[in-house]
Amino acid sequence: MPAADEKQRIRSIVRALRREYPEPRCGLVHESPFQLLIATILSAQCTDERVNQVTPGLFAKWGAPADLATVPLPLLEDEIRSTGFFRNKARNVRGAAQAIVERHGGEVPATMAELIDLPGVARKTANVVLGIAFAKAEGIVVDTHVTRVSQRLGLSDATDPVKIEQDLMTRLPRSEWIWFGHALIWHGRDTCGARRPACERCALARWCPAARP
Ligand code: SF4
Repeated sequence: MPAADEKQRIRSIVRALRREYPEPRCGLVHESPFQLLIATILSAQCTDERVNQVTPGLFAKWGAPADLATVPLPLLEDEIRSTGFFRNKARNVRGAAQAIVERHGGEVPATMAELIDLPGVARKTANVVLGIAFAKAEGIVVDTHVTRVSQRLGLSDATDPVKIEQDLMTRLPRSEWIWFGHALIWHGRDTCGARRPACERCALARWCPAARP
C-alpha cells in the first residue's frame, strides 16, 4: 500500500477507535502510583478482575512502599496467591517496594529508565505507570491484547513486544501513545478476542486486513 494510503488507514483506525474508547482507562483499581505499580506487577498472566479482588486486602495491610518492603515473604505469598505465579510476584513486589524506599525516597520514580530498573518491572508495566499515573508518554503499553490486535490490524508483524511497541511508536503520533495502548487492550477484550474476533460488529473492520466476513 502506498505510504499516503497507509497513513490515511491508520488515521481512520485511530478515529474509529477513539469513538469507542475516548479516554485512556486502566482496569486496575488503585489510589496512588505505587498501588498502580504493584497491581500491574500482579496482573501478569492474571485478569484485572482477579487482581482487583486481591489488592484491597493487600493495600489495607501494606499500602505504602515502607510497609511492603518489610513484609515477610510467606505472608505476602498467601495474600496474593490467587493471582498466580505468587512466589515470583511476591519477590518482585517486595523487591520493588524495597528499591523504591532505598533508591527513590519512597516515591515511585517517573522515568522509564528508573522504572525498568525495579524488580519485576518491564516496559509494559512501566508504560502503564508512566501513562496512567504520571501522564507521560515514553512508550506504548503492549500486552497480549495489544500484540494480537496490532498484528491483525497490520500495524506490526513482530511477535516480540518491544519490537511491536517500536512499530506502533513509529506509526502513531506521540500524542496518541498513552491512549492507544489502553484502547487496544479494551478493543481486544470487548471485540477482537483471541478465539473469536467479532468482526461483524467491529468498528475497525473496514480498515482491518484480518476482518472476517
Ligand atoms: S475486524 Fe476482526 S480481526 Fe480486525 S480488529 Fe476487528 S475484530 Fe479484530
